[in-house]
Amino acid sequence: MVFTTQHDVCLNNYVSDYFRVDILHLSNYVCGITAYALSHIGHARATVSFKVLHRRFRRLGYQVTYVANFIDVDNNIINCAKKNGENPLEFSSCFCEEYRADMCPRVSEHMDEIIKMIENIIKKVCGYIVEGDVFFCIDKYVEKSPDYGKLSEHTRAGKRVAVDSRKRNPADFALWKSPWGRGRPGWHIECSAMSARHLSPKFDIHGGRADLIFPHHENELAQTCAAYEDGGVKYWLHNRHVTTIDKEKIYSESKLDSSSEALYYVYQTLQDLDDALMPYREAFSQDSKQTTAEAKYIINKLKREFDSKMSDDLNTVHILTGAYDRAMKFINSSIGKLEKMQKRQRMSLVVSLFGIEREAREVLDELGLLPTLSCAEILKEMKQKALTRAGLSEEVVSQKMEERTMARKKKEFGKSDQIREELKVKGIELIDVGNETVWKPFLPSQANSSD
Ligand SMILES: [Zn+2]
Repeated sequence: MVFTTQHDVCLNNYVSDYFRVDILHLSNYVCGITAYALSHIGHARATVSFKVLHRRFRRLGYQVTYVANFIDVDNNIINCAKKNGENPLEFSSCFCEEYRADMCPRVSEHMDEIIKMIENIIKKVCGYIVEGDVFFCIDKYVEKSPDYGKLSEHTRAGKRVAVDSRKRNPADFALWKSPWGRGRPGWHIECSAMSARHLSPKFDIHGGRADLIFPHHENELAQTCAAYEDGGVKYWLHNRHVTTIDKEKIYSESKLDSSSEALYYVYQTLQDLDDALMPYREAFSQDSKQTTAEAKYIINKLKREFDSKMSDDLNTVHILTGAYDRAMKFINSSIGKLEKMQKRQRMSLVVSLFGIEREAREVLDELGLLPTLSCAEILKEMKQKALTRAGLSEEVVSQKMEERTMARKKKEFGKSDQIREELKVKGIELIDVGNETVWKPFLPSQANSSD
């Protein structure tokens, strides 16, 4: 089954009848990177999307065996290594190391499985040998499995492939490139072999980027089903690309900046809350019944909205809006009130805030936005990034803030406004809190972006 979604991960509409949700163990295979260059933001998106999905399944009570691979045998790798005068495997290995944060099986370590699978495909008459190369025979496969092409909605596959006169059908593709036994595998076979080896020929979820649907996933599925009668994938999940919003750029920097602003606000709120709740943390008991009706409503709404957005094809883009944003506003308005309250009323609000804090943190945790760092450390890192982007040091910003304070004291408001504007354009926003001035990262001015 393949789904299509509008959001982080798209699940295409190829419906099969073995849709079952009563299993508690899921096997999930995600296509990894081809290691001939440093990873880019698109690779990161695939990784983030499928890790979020992984955590979602765990939260729903599933056990998940998650496998993602490295492609370290490939034409691009061979060509780039040649240009650099390096050995292809050593060349790709440094890029694998860069990426290795996960369980990523390598093609080069699975040659036995790949060769065995190709032998099996030949035995089932879906593969043929020409001058030492091995090709997958689409016509023979379609005789057995007329579903070929359904996954990618391609009626005549193979149009993209340069015609090789040795192929029986232009849609046929290489399983092995010669010389047979000492050559190298075709593009798709490695994923069939590695998923079968680490999961089983038939497994639950296959993930990957949307651009892999055809020909890679379509042909991967055909190979697995040709080699194993019981082979197959229950659900195909594809993450969308990082979308084009600004001109020809592959992603919108302003969109990313505004997301980071929204996150800064969340981390700052949670840090302020942490400071405000510090004196009460030790005495706090989890099973307190003192939570206010308003806080209960906020917590329930947060839970329900999060579940419903995550169930909507991992609609993570809007998680921090709506109920989450209202929870942050409630926290900010409550912190100031705490000290002024009578003891009993105060304890009730403290308990409520602990409840909201727990729920808000759980959401961030599932999204992978709560690393081992504290909120204070994350805020510090984000500020450091803003300083680097602005080309300023913390000292220079402090000095500018002092100059502005002096100007305001002397009632030179033109000068103080000018300092504030200068910093704002560079992505540093000054905020006056009582008699103090603090700064936070801000979306830098786009005025000069004529390129
Ligand atoms: Zn793959």
